Amino acid sequence: MAFSLDLTADSTRNALRPGAAPEKPSLIGLTRAEMAEALVAAGIVPERQAKMRVQQLWHWLYVRGVSDFAHMFNISKDLRSALAEHFSIGRPEIVEEQISNDGTRKWLFRFPPRGAGRPVEIETVYIPEEGRGTLCISSQVGCTLTCSFCHTGTQKLVRNLTSEEILAQLLCARDRLGDFPDRDTPAGAIVPSEGRKVSNIVMMGMGEPLYNFDAVKKALLIASDGDGLALSKRRITLSTSGVVPEIYRTGEEIGVMLAISLHATNDDLRDLLVPINKKFPLKELMEACRKYPGLSNARRITFEYVMLKDVNDSLEDAKALVKLLKGIPAKINLIPFNPWPGSNYQCSDWEQIEKFADFINAAGYASPIRTPRGRDILAACGQLKSESERLKKSERLALEAMMIAGHGEA
Ligand code: SAH
Ligand code: SF4
Repeated sequence: MAFSLDLTADSTRNALRPGAAPEKPSLIGLTRAEMAEALVAAGIVPERQAKMRVQQLWHWLYVRGVSDFAHMFNISKDLRSALAEHFSIGRPEIVEEQISNDGTRKWLFRFPPRGAGRPVEIETVYIPEEGRGTLCISSQVGCTLTCSFCHTGTQKLVRNLTSEEILAQLLCARDRLGDFPDRDTPAGAIVPSEGRKVSNIVMMGMGEPLYNFDAVKKALLIASDGDGLALSKRRITLSTSGVVPEIYRTGEEIGVMLAISLHATNDDLRDLLVPINKKFPLKELMEACRKYPGLSNARRITFEYVMLKDVNDSLEDAKALVKLLKGIPAKINLIPFNPWPGSNYQCSDWEQIEKFADFINAAGYASPIRTPRGRDILAACGQLKSESERLKKSERLALEAMMIAGHGEA
């Protein structure tokens, strides 16, 4: 049985938000230079000490994972209180934590408004697998693109997330998984068994990360910083629907692994499924992929391909796919379509997905079929949406019925 923790009781909520002071500017998500500048500008650190203080703070924030200045024991009490007066390092509010019967977790985080407007809510998903744990991070609230099979695409863009909010998803997940080994595990955290912590991150949650390039870049460079969170860039994957100019920039300026939401092998169909294709058609997209820096058999691009019954799942399509990717070091990730209320597609039959996969395998491509995870808590690909549009009970029941009636592997 899936279950859901109600974290909205005040006492629990406060326990989960140590040091939260959302109105003050956060130090999380700043580059080292920006952090130094902020400390000096606030008049609490002299310029000649700034580099050393940044070093200390960086360690506390990203190696030890503290969310309260009071725990920074090698910093004087006076400076700690000055820091707390000017800045925040608190976490967002965790509105809900759901744990699927397959161990997948989904969090609903609430961030304070930036400028005018209401607080925003976003979802982050943790997927434990044999020997690794993958965190699926959101980059925007909603999405401006309107891929016809994607639930997020039906929600208008509310706003881009800041670099702090992108990183906060990783920090909070590590809090809740007891994944800051040098720190006490927060009250109420449910720690999974050994080896099931965050070893990989994928920018595959809500939103198009390359439409929020600067914040995503900053967050990923901090996540991969060797003196902090230290995730290898090979364990970070950014998924895009194909924003070609920013694919070049991703290769040059971020250097993480790339995933492309391909889903079709000709422009006519891709224009319908992934409308950004009208702006950046397949020829330009494939050219950007070929030129992605550092590609080799050990460093391949992942092509995501959602399996839509009678739309893109024939053996002809599989043949065209192999032809299209010729010469690119590639992995093909077949994603069974995850239904949502109001969606106009059906998932391909399981037999057809296997035939498709066999064909691609025979052509020499690794083509894992992505097992749908966390469907019972609506955490699967394309099912994320923010709380502002949370499903009504009747919709949830309808969806559950769809999943039971759907293919048998879930
Ligand atoms: N916006 C980015 C990243 C988020 S989507 C992108 O489009 O790449 C992560 C993956 O889930 C994408 O490949 C997306 O096409 C796929 N997806 C979206 N809706 C889906 C659905 N209903 N079923 C299965 N996969 C879906
Ligand atoms: Fe946006 Fe990606 Fe969904 Fe397309 S698939 S609507 S780009 S989140």
